[in-house]
Formats: sequence, structure tokens, C-alpha cells
Amino acid sequence: MDLWYTEKQTENMGLSLKVKSLLHRETTPYQELAVLDTVQYGRMLVLDGMVQTTEKDEYVYHEMITHVALYTHPNPRRVAVVGGGDGGAVREILKHPSIEKVVLAEIDEAVIEAARRYLPSISSALDDPRVDIMVGDGIAHIKTRRDAYDIVFVDSTEPVGAAVGLFSRDFYQAIHEALTEDGILVAQTESPYVNASLIEKSFGHIRSIFPVSRLYLACVPTYPTGLWSFSLGSKKYDPLQVDFKARQAVPTVYYNPDVHRAAFALPNFVRDLIGEEAAR
Ligand code: SAM
Repeated sequence: MDLWYTEKQTENMGLSLKVKSLLHRETTPYQELAVLDTVQYGRMLVLDGMVQTTEKDEYVYHEMITHVALYTHPNPRRVAVVGGGDGGAVREILKHPSIEKVVLAEIDEAVIEAARRYLPSISSALDDPRVDIMVGDGIAHIKTRRDAYDIVFVDSTEPVGAAVGLFSRDFYQAIHEALTEDGILVAQTESPYVNASLIEKSFGHIRSIFPVSRLYLACVPTYPTGLWSFSLGSKKYDPLQVDFKARQAVPTVYYNPDVHRAAFALPNFVRDLIGEEAAR
């Protein structure tokens, strides 16, 4: 008998994957957590019924949320990841030799434990001595910091429960204050096909706070519609002006300088969404 898992991504659309086994399931104080072993994408972390990451396609999201800003900043040393308890973003960040400290502010310890136990290829860098794991609300953590981070990555769940505030103007303003004078913010901002108003709002907040703001895209097969957006706010550096020749390449599967540049080429409907003049 075949077993299938379906994530109901919207009222009218879902992603179905053939399942080998259910490895783990628990109700944490924050969410319903499951780890499934799937035929197509390997092991998969699911929170509140929504796919967070899979062994086979995680590299797209984790490389794209991190390397774009890590190459844009000429010397990133201290960075924070809010959310991101699976460890994938941390693993990518630590590939950059300039990094001295990564603070992971994850609210749900059970996510970190499940990733360590069931997703070792994703969580492998969590034990690196440069990583400080702070279990608690990322918003509270950021609000206590000033001039502390070169980059803050918001690697959040969808805006439900504890993650609602991670898409608010107040939080982006607090990140602005937690950043150094030339710091950068990157936040995952969902799919332009099914989360248009979220992108409009979140990117609008970031644009109203940071002198440089850019939206960029990547293709993540297991996320709703596959087309995913990231919103970047920067106090100084423009991700479209990176001198790649001056930078040492780190090993990646998806990201490279051409992908970096191409990710900022937005379809007209996405430009419209963020109020940019569409070149028609
Ligand atoms: N890559 C993923 C995606 O876009 O689907 C995100 C993965 S990561 C596992 C998201 C994490 O954000 C979850 O582990 C969740 O517990 C955490 N989170 C949600 N709200 C948070 C908050 N207020 N502070 C810190 N972490 C939070």
C-alpha cells in the first residue's frame, strides 16, 4: 500500500509526496512538528502541516537566503539568524572565512533537536564553535541588540503563531538598530503567486526603513508554487554592485555570481507588486 502526504498549500492547491515512513511526530509548545521520509525529496521537516525543508532541495533556499547578502557585504563577521532552527542557513554562513560569530535565535528547541537527530546533513554546522544557539523569541533577542550584527537573516516560518511579528515593520526597525552602520537584512518573504499582499507589505516596510532595498527570487521545488521571494534591506551596499573578482568563491550547488545577478530580474507582475516601474 502506498502512503502519501499532502501539504494543503492553499484552499485549492497542494503538494503530494509518496512517503516511506513517519520518523517523528510531536506537539511542541509552539507547533506541530513532524519528520517524514519521502521517496522524492528524502527526509522532510514539516511544521504545522507546512514543509520547511527537505534533504534534496534544501540547498536552494539555504544558499539563496544567505550568500546573496554574504557576498554583498565586503567583510561579514558577526551575523544572526532568526528562526532557522534546522541549521541549513548556519551551515551556509560558516562557509565564508570572514565569519567570526553566528547567533541562531530559534524559538522552538524541538526543531533544533529534530534537525540534529533526523537531518544531519542540514544541521551539521550547529556544533561549530562560532555558533551561539539562543533558544527564545528572535524578536526579543533582536530588540536587545545595538550595532551588533553585519547581517541579520530572518529564516522564519509562514506568518502564523510566533512568526507573525517576524514580518512586522517594528521588527524590521529593530533589526535596523541591531545592525552595524553598513549592515544588511534578508528576510524570506514567501511566494509572489500566493502571498502577494505579504510581499507588498513586508517589502514596503523594508523599503521605508533601509536606503537600499531589493527583492530577489529563487526556485524552491517543495515550497508553494516553487517561486520564492527574499527581501533585502541594506544600509550601504547594493547587491547589484558586488565585485565578485575580489571575493573568494565558496562551494555551492545553486548559487553563483550569475544566479546572484539574475535573481534580481523580476517579472512584471512582481515589479508591480513592489511598486517598481515595470519595463514593458
Ligand atoms: N526554510 C523555512 C521556510 O521558509 O519554510 C523556514 C525554516 S525554519 C525551521 C523556521 C523557524 O522559525 C521554525 O523553526 C520556527 O520555530 C522559527 N520561529 C518562528 N517564530 C519565531 C520567533 N518569533 N523567533 C524565533 N524563531 C521563530
